[in-house]
Amino acid sequence: MIKTLTCIECPMGCEITVEEENGAVKNVSGNSCPRGKLYAESEAVCPKRVVTSTVRAESGEMVPVKTNKPVNKNEIFKVMDIIKRTRCRLPVQLGEVLVKNISGDADLIVSGNV
Ligand code: SF4
Repeated sequence: MIKTLTCIECPMGCEITVEEENGAVKNVSGNSCPRGKLYAESEAVCPKRVVTSTVRAESGEMVPVKTNKPVNKNEIFKVMDIIKRTRCRLPVQLGEVLVKNISGDADLIVSGNV
């Protein structure tokens, strides 16, 4: 299978072609640097994303949150369900961990002071 994707590792946005066979990457082309090759290999076999959202504080305010590492795309609904059920107490600080290991070794952290 051949996939074409746009590298999001830097603003150049190179169009990269990945040849995949039986779940393994056979060839990567179109990348202008090694970062693009790593991105394409990961995206083709196990795509990941940083999840950003909000958590409701016990007092009602919305607190911006994100995962501190990208999580597997097939885990995003599970992560969003946990986020929906999570509550925190104010004040919170930028970088504070709200849910340890929300997916694998990724934590849910506060992404802005409230
Ligand atoms: S392949 Fe390299 S240069 Fe091209 S968008 Fe990705 S990181 Fe940037």
